[in-house]
Amino acid sequence: MASTRSSFVELTDVTRTFKTKFDSVAALDEVTFSIGQGERVALLGRSGSGKSTLLNLLGALDRPTSGVIRVDRRELNCMNAEEMADYRLHTVGMIFQAFNLIGTMSALQNVTLPFVFGGEARSSRRKKARQALERVGLAKRARHRPTQLSGGEQQRVAIARALACEPSLLLADEPTGNLDSGTAAEVVELLVDFSEQNNTAVLLVTHDEELAQQFAHRTLRLHDGRLVESS
Ligand code: ADP
Ligand code: MG
Repeated sequence: MASTRSSFVELTDVTRTFKTKFDSVAALDEVTFSIGQGERVALLGRSGSGKSTLLNLLGALDRPTSGVIRVDRRELNCMNAEEMADYRLHTVGMIFQAFNLIGTMSALQNVTLPFVFGGEARSSRRKKARQALERVGLAKRARHRPTQLSGGEQQRVAIARALACEPSLLLADEPTGNLDSGTAAEVVELLVDFSEQNNTAVLLVTHDEELAQQFAHRTLRLHDGRLVESS
């Protein structure tokens, strides 16, 4: 079957329930939607509406309670641990509000990490990491540690790390939440450029409606785990 723009990412009736001792919360409740190759989608919704839960499922960091998730025609539910690790390394890239950089490592070492896990030779992984830092305009900051960088620069390092393996799906969980509006706009512009140059699908969580409009082809909205609107 030829891959069509409408079916690169496909969620069908995806439910994720968290059970605690006292109750059970449907963080996601029968969510169905798809994302095309190269498509940019903004995900909005109040705190607790299920946005991070959804991104964690798509990033293969978690599994749904029921429903089916397909990315590039592969069913995530059916993957074993090794296949999930391979998917996280080669298909999907993730960035987070808190940047999640390793504080004791330089910018270059942080960006090199995915290649270390991927078993790539030392010289080749350093070269690729340098190229990734260049792409986000941080070649001159390669030796800096995260604390020696501004918030915007730290997020660009995290973006370089996520993009270094050329993922076909990028998941961004409130990546601009800790940045001022000017820096946030720059970060979003970087994601748009990368997406357009590489035909990368991007799902971006944000609270900022204006940023969502600037960034996305389409907007999805979650309310109490349910998809309530998509345009
Ligand atoms: P958002 O990212 O939109 O703020 P989350 O996806 O983090 O929302 O959370 C959605 C709901 O699921 C919330 O009610 C949250 O408390 C609950 N939840 C998320 N993760 C867990 C977990 N590991 N255990 C129990 N409840 C969870
Ligand atoms: Mg969240």
